[in-house]
Amino acid sequence: MHELGIMTGVMESVETAARDAGADRVLKVSLDVGVMTEAIEDALQFAFEALAENNPYFEGATLEVTMIQPKSICTQCGHEFSHDRFHMLCPECGSPFLQLLEGKELQISSIEVDMPDEDEPDNSDKE
Ligand SMILES: [Zn+2]
Repeated sequence: MHELGIMTGVMESVETAARDAGADRVLKVSLDVGVMTEAIEDALQFAFEALAENNPYFEGATLEVTMIQPKSICTQCGHEFSHDRFHMLCPECGSPFLQLLEGKELQISSIEVDMPDEDEPDNSDKE
């Protein structure tokens, strides 16, 4: 399963970054995923939940996936256009010679973490 491998790598990166920042645990991970990676959003969610279940550092964490539609530039006429995985001809001149500009992304766009309480000075005692 392609997505399990992707999520394993993503969660390792997230955990390393969060621990370096001194976080107690991860609350939310936002991911930009290009359609051309052929990763399926539901499968990514499933892989994330399966991996989070076995890692207390991700207990209760959520995953937000933003799918990026492919965009290419025609090397023949210079036209830029969006398309899907299956339609890859220039709509202006019909050329199949394209350079992919967007759609192969696989990047962590943001991480929300739970920081230790001692960093909050206005956490005053009430009686
Ligand atoms: Zn063209």
